[in-house]
Amino acid sequence: MRVLTSISESRRAVWDARLNGRRVGLVPTMGALHEGHLSLVRAAHESCSFVAVTIFVNPTQFAPGEDFDRYPRTMDADRTLLDGERVDLLFAPSSADVHAADDATVVHVARLTDGLCGPWRPGHFDGVATVVAKLFNILPADAAFFGEKDFQQLQVVRRMVRDLHIPIDIVGCPTVREPDGLAMSSRNAFLSPQERARAAGVSAALFEAKRLIEAEGARDGDALRALLRDRLRASDITDVDYAEIVDPDGLVPVRAVQSPVRILIAARVGRTRLIDNVAATPAW
Ligand code: AMP
Repeated sequence: MRVLTSISESRRAVWDARLNGRRVGLVPTMGALHEGHLSLVRAAHESCSFVAVTIFVNPTQFAPGEDFDRYPRTMDADRTLLDGERVDLLFAPSSADVHAADDATVVHVARLTDGLCGPWRPGHFDGVATVVAKLFNILPADAAFFGEKDFQQLQVVRRMVRDLHIPIDIVGCPTVREPDGLAMSSRNAFLSPQERARAAGVSAALFEAKRLIEAEGARDGDALRALLRDRLRASDITDVDYAEIVDPDGLVPVRAVQSPVRILIAARVGRTRLIDNVAATPAW
């Protein structure tokens, strides 16, 4: 695995691979890698013959007071994991190389960022869209792999690529979970043992709502939102940013479930903000 910090060398490595007829897959991450990230690498290998991973804790997607400074950074372990996955290129740039102090350009994806995490993390999706656009320009891959775990982010990236005619395929990959259902996340490392036990309540609430929609015919959006909050409360999770049921494309809250929906939760367990989501399809 080549490990590069230089933008020009990394761009050249990707172009060389493409000129040699290889299909290049890109997996952008913030590091502190776990099985969720590695599942994206494995998905990339399925359709690509050259896999590039980026590790960059992007400062512009963290608001003041969020966890940028204490975000876990485990570069040595990450390198070992990526080596084991036969990754071809690891690009780990410095912040100063990616963002100039006098940058004047921001990519803003409207509407899709109005709800869910948007109001709770001001500026977050502008930071994400802008850095992903930069990474796509630095590493001109054929395809990029993102987790459904961050479903709003996935839809924002898809819309940006569509609107800006960026020539890259966006591939969404299923969420990898712990045995008790908790979605894997670098932030899970912040949870104390007691918090870790409570945290399983997030996915339990999501899967209960999914079951009600798919097996019990539950259709009323507000009743399902209330159920999500009840289930969270039963796990002693009361600091809830949102518990929502939206249409998967526009991310607009639904009044009644009549077609496939996405069920999403953002909640704090202790100081740690967890997000998770599942799809639900009404059977009739
Ligand atoms: P992050 O390092 O948290 O920015 O995540 C990098 C990529 O990994 C994003 O596309 C995430 O959606 C994806 N990802 C994170 N956790 C998981 C998970 N548990 N399952 C699948 N993909 C994930």
